[in-house]
Amino acid sequence: MGTIVEVNNLTKNFYSKEGEVKVLDNISFSLEEGEIISLLGPSGSGKSTILNILTNLLKPTSGEVNIKGSIGYMFQKDHLLEWRSIMDNITIGLEIMHKKNDKQSIERIERLLKTYGLWDFRNMYPKELSGGMRQRVALIRTLSVNPDILLLDEPFSALDYQTRLMVNDDVYRIIKNENKSVILVTHDISEAIAMGDKVAVLSKRPSTIKKIYDIDLGLCDDKTPFKCRKVPKFQTYFDILWKELDNNEF
Ligand code: ADP
Ligand code: MG
Repeated sequence: MGTIVEVNNLTKNFYSKEGEVKVLDNISFSLEEGEIISLLGPSGSGKSTILNILTNLLKPTSGEVNIKGSIGYMFQKDHLLEWRSIMDNITIGLEIMHKKNDKQSIERIERLLKTYGLWDFRNMYPKELSGGMRQRVALIRTLSVNPDILLLDEPFSALDYQTRLMVNDDVYRIIKNENKSVILVTHDISEAIAMGDKVAVLSKRPSTIKKIYDIDLGLCDDKTPFKCRKVPKFQTYFDILWKELDNNEF
């Protein structure tokens, strides 16, 4: 076990006709192998900007990131292609990497489909699936190229509340089972606590990291986000984080 992502003193300014907008101000955090960190912050605080810097889609104004592994990026919308079957949606990453005939990759995808209940759906089309199942397909697609690190950008926010609780558990089980290191972006306090091993609280723009909390709910190996929500300590963390965010008057 070691540090797999290190973010040091990141700042980001955007420039427009109206002038300069400072979005990130001295952001630092790290992610250990196999860990989930939740980045919790109000809308517009720069959460997606952080992920875009980590994937090299954006350059930071200053600061640096150290990443020891490959990255998979999953968005709020599932971005499934409606004209392709589930299988063809999932193999799209392999196609892009010209690995569609790579035996090991194909075997991995078949294993993922079988393990996570998608095998019987492989010839169906996205519109035939529920929102929760579509998110599972999107996750498996992200896992298909076997990334070490997953960046999840508000992946549950398009789902209704009950589906979201189920998909929380589903995604949690899969990423822990597959032993991934995860950065989860959310503006939902409960979700940040239920999913995260630690929670970094971002202030409103220009965003700083106010504090990073280790989440220990006293649940051991059988931890699931749903169970987390029922532990008395959960409310304690909720109140602390609520206060922390509320201080920003967002
Ligand atoms: P969050 O994901 O926390 O909601 P974002 O990272 O999407 O926040 O955006 C943070 C701020 O940066 C917003 O005010 C947004 O308008 C601004 N922003 C994001 N991307 C750009 C860009 N490419 N050019 C200019 N401003 C941007
Ligand atoms: Mg965002």
